[in-house]
Amino acid sequence: MANTGSAPVRGAKRSAESVWSMGMGRVSGIPIRLHFTFLVLLGWLAVSGPLTGLLFVVGVFICVVLHELGHSIVAQKYGIGVAEIVLYPIGGVARLEKLPEPKQEVWIALAGPAVNVVLAVILFAALIATHSPIPWGDFFGPGGGLLQRLLFANLMLCGFNLIPAFPMDGGRVLRAILAINLGELRGTEIAAAVGQVLAIILIFVALWQQMAFLVFIGVFVYLGAGQEANMYRGRALVEGVPVHKATITDFRMLSPGASLGEAAELLLKTSQQDFPVVNGDEAIGILTRNSLLRGLAEEGKTGYVTRWMDREFLTVSPDLDLASIAADMQSGQQTCALVMRDGELLGIVTLENLAELLLVRQATKDV
Ligand SMILES: [Zn+2]
Repeated sequence: MANTGSAPVRGAKRSAESVWSMGMGRVSGIPIRLHFTFLVLLGWLAVSGPLTGLLFVVGVFICVVLHELGHSIVAQKYGIGVAEIVLYPIGGVARLEKLPEPKQEVWIALAGPAVNVVLAVILFAALIATHSPIPWGDFFGPGGGLLQRLLFANLMLCGFNLIPAFPMDGGRVLRAILAINLGELRGTEIAAAVGQVLAIILIFVALWQQMAFLVFIGVFVYLGAGQEANMYRGRALVEGVPVHKATITDFRMLSPGASLGEAAELLLKTSQQDFPVVNGDEAIGILTRNSLLRGLAEEGKTGYVTRWMDREFLTVSPDLDLASIAADMQSGQQTCALVMRDGELLGIVTLENLAELLLVRQATKDV
């Protein structure tokens, strides 16, 4: 376990969205998961629609997976791990394990739509080969054959994703280019603002045209822009700040034999919410406030902390850049990281004190 390399060690903790999804296998080491809402859509099509409807959705699904794999494989080329690809009815998400640098992001973001262009060209060639010439009149209509509709879907996927609304691919490219020229903070602010304005326009147009699906996408883009901008903002504010600056060195630990009652007492007596569980010199887990409360509700005060602690946790070296763990902690995947050097526990970094550090830096830094 406790591995104190130069990079943060990631636990296998699953994010909130993956809980509602089903594994579909791995490509290039990346787990591909289907969100349950996508399964509902497929099931509904299977029972209600004609077979071609189902085949079309499965075809689009494959194109979306290939689009996300485009992002993922370029990310991997830059040494950025991909935690998973999750498919939702409105599209896919490739979850990168860390935020890419702006120059890398341009290529990672462009790789997805580029895949759709390649697929469109292949489908076009297949159409020409099978029944040329294509009747242009119903090219975009619902009357076309499966290949034709898939070609149209790929053009839509490419075009729609290139709209410069952060956090869509086009918006990411815009943010990265602005970040290269104006700095991370200014670039992110402008891209997020452009994304939110475009999202609001989209929502109004969709309401006016009574297209519920587009309203949904507009809201998704609006919320996503704010959320992702926060992650980039956070990273820009802590860039170059070593982990030890945000480390709490005065903290309480639990022994593996401790009961949940003892842990609850510490929670009430101190301002600490997450407690490292240490066996002798070795950190074996973290008991977070949420796990503690869950444990208390199920087992009462006599339960043991070892049953409820997280055995997969984030460990970082004190000299590492805070930026490398800020995104993880801000996205809520980890609420606490252990700061370790040569197997020795030096302190903890928690979400609360990271947030406080961000506030202090925002207040004092000229941005
Ligand atoms: Zn994309």
